[in-house]
Order: sequence, then structure tokens, then C-alpha cells
Amino acid sequence: MPDQHEKAEADITSHDKNPLEIVHELLKDSVDDLKLDENIYHILKKPIRMLEVSIPVRMDNGDIHNYTGYRSQHLDIFGPTKGGIRFHPDVNTDEVKALSIWMSLKSAILNLPLGGGKGGVIVDPAELSDRELEELSRTYIRKLTPVIGPQKDIPAPDVNTNPRVMGWMMDEYDQLRGYNIPGMLTGKPLILGGSEGRLAATGRGVMLMVREAAKVLDMDLSQSTVALQGFGNVGSMTAKYLHELDVNVIGITDASGGITNENGIDIPELLDFLAEGNSLADYDKAEPLTNEELFKLPVDIFIPAAMENQITKDTAPHIQAKIVAEAANGPTTPEGNKILEEKDVFIIPDILCNAGGVTVSYFEWVQNEMNFYWKEEAINEKLEERMVEGFNNVLDMRNKENIRMRKAAYMVGVKHIVKALKARGWIKGEDLSQ
Ligand code: GLU
Repeated sequence: MPDQHEKAEADITSHDKNPLEIVHELLKDSVDDLKLDENIYHILKKPIRMLEVSIPVRMDNGDIHNYTGYRSQHLDIFGPTKGGIRFHPDVNTDEVKALSIWMSLKSAILNLPLGGGKGGVIVDPAELSDRELEELSRTYIRKLTPVIGPQKDIPAPDVNTNPRVMGWMMDEYDQLRGYNIPGMLTGKPLILGGSEGRLAATGRGVMLMVREAAKVLDMDLSQSTVALQGFGNVGSMTAKYLHELDVNVIGITDASGGITNENGIDIPELLDFLAEGNSLADYDKAEPLTNEELFKLPVDIFIPAAMENQITKDTAPHIQAKIVAEAANGPTTPEGNKILEEKDVFIIPDILCNAGGVTVSYFEWVQNEMNFYWKEEAINEKLEERMVEGFNNVLDMRNKENIRMRKAAYMVGVKHIVKALKARGWIKGEDLSQ
């Protein structure tokens, strides 16, 4: 789709809860529920490495602005650490650490030979010129150069970063190293060794997870409606693939505003409209909708695809959906989660729901390492196989333990990590390898 890759992720922010505290609570519960040694929690709660970098950028007016960036490498027992880089004013050390832990869990659930990593720069990229953004991207990656690489830590896009930013970063890294190293990051432009299907992968994965959840609940998707928060890369691709399954998307919001049409929004037409450089709020073949109203829509499926902490004690009571598919990382606070559980909502947790991105990133890295490239069909087939298997593993854990999907996902992920920790001799105890 033309220009879609230029569009950054949606930008809806509300940081009222520390994501690191949230992930720590969930990890601790999983360690307890799996009756594991408490030391395992103490290993998992911290990244193995956390780097802070200073990023001086010469602004167009001649001033130097010194930005702050981070990279958290959580766990490297399965392979290189892996995860995106976000550019956002709210980036902070706890958020980056939490996001890197989530990456470890995603890879573990999907059985990818990767660990978790995440990076971020405290910046609002909308305030930078193209030249300033390029300099920021290049300087940030230069500062990370000693600790990243195709066998160490592999960045990718995240909120407000995209293939264009990845292209600059790869170029900078290659120039420092003196040769072409495409496997040093993923989510690159296709021409530089990016993978077919990567741009759409997270959204395609969300669609697959919604499809599997609908089977569990015996729901007919062609009769179902969706409300979607966030229309960046992930949100827009999710809408596109759900629309192809005949699901009616009836409400969408992003940082510019929102739209609703109770008969269903024409997603292909909306995507064309946005590709022409328009904003969502200007689309006039639907009624305006606020973010607050989005939560109140009478839909079957609610999909947060923006930032953390959106489904809270204030917004969760309004959600009427049977399925909440967490396309964003950490969109639900513990209080919000409790309310959804009391309503018996089927939650597809973030660490499963949005793992399609890192899965195709893994395929991208594999193709780079062997310098042989697959067609999109092959990629999509492998993605579906991995994600459906991951979904079924989590579902089996849920059914076996009579617990919710989120807890089941954490337990599947933690169990997988613990097997490797035991095999490496880090921890003793009961063998989990069977
Ligand atoms: N930023 C994405 C995520 O949160 C993708 C990471 C990757 O592809 O490495 O999962």
C-alpha cells in the first residue's frame, strides 16, 4: 500500500501506572503459580544490561539539543536480544525495561530463538524536521554500536519509528563497521534486505488471534463489530485484515480524533484517504468520535492499538466487547484487567496478540543471515503457523489450570524461559524439559 510505511504508530498517551511495576506483579504471580523458586523472579525482573546514551543533535537553527536515549537488553539465553526502538516524549527507564521484558515473553511464547530488548529516545519526532530526525536516528544508533549487532541485539521499529528510520540506522551502522550487515536490525525497507510481510505482520497477527479467539467463543466474525484505538501501522493493518474477514469496524480513534459509522467504515477507502496525507479526523464519510465515546461503542471486539494504560478503572467499565485484543504493548492496567475479567471478557494478552511483528522480524533476520529471501506467501504461512501454535499453547494452559488467558500466557512464557535457565545450570530444581 503506497506510503503506509511512512505513517508512524498512533500517539495516544496516558501514563498513570508504571509498566515495570505491572510486569513485575505478573511475573511474580507466574513464578508463584508455577511453584518455582523465588530467585527465578529476581532473575527475570531485571534486564541483563541497561544503557543510557546521550544524543546531541544540531538543530536546524544551529543550536545543539542533547536528547536522552536508552536500550534495555533483558535476556539473552535463547539468542540475541530483540525489540523495537520508540521515539516518544514519555519514554523512561522503567518503560523501556518493561517493554524489553515483554519482548522476552513474546519470543518465549512463540518459541523464537531470541531474547527481549527495547530501546527508546525521549523526543517528540513530530517537532523535528526530516534532517533533525535523521541526525537523531544516526547518532542514537552510533551510541548503541558497541552493544548491538546481528548476534547480540537486533533493533526494529516501534512507536513513531518506521522503515525509513531503520534505513538511516542501518546505513550508519554499516558505515561504522565498514560493510553491509542487514541482520543488525529488522523492519528495514525491502530494498535493503527487509522482509516481505514485515510491515503488515503485527496487524496480520492480531487478526489471526482474533480469528482464533472467535472460534473459542463460537462467534461469527462476519456478524461482529470492532472498535479500534490507534491507527498507526499496527491499528491500520489490523483493520485491513479484519475487514477482509468481513468484520465491521465501526469506530476508530487516533491522536488526531476519531470516526464512527454504525454500518461499518470502508477500510480500504480510509487507507487510501490517509495515504494521501490526510488525517483520520478529516475523513468525512463517518461521524466524529471521541476517544471516550470509543470505549462506549456497543461492539463485539475492542482493540487497543496505541499506547500503555488505556483500559483503566475509568474506561474498562464502559467496554461491552466479548473480546479485547491487545495490539498495543501494556494497554490494560491491573484495575482495568480486573474489571474486564469480572465481565468475563476474553482478553488476548499483548505478549501473544501483537507477537506477529517480532515473529516476522525473526524471519527477516534469518533471511538476512542466509542471504536468501522468501516470498510473501511463505512468510505469511510461517507466521500463521507460529501464532496459531502459540495461541493454542496459551489456550491449553488456560484450560488446564482454569485461569485467564493473560496469566496463561505469562505462565507459558516463564516456563519456557525457566527450562533454558535450568539447562544452562543457572538454577537447580525440578526438570521442566518435558
Ligand atoms: N516493536 C515491536 C514489538 O513491540 C516489534 C519488535 C521487533 O520486531 O523486534 O513487538
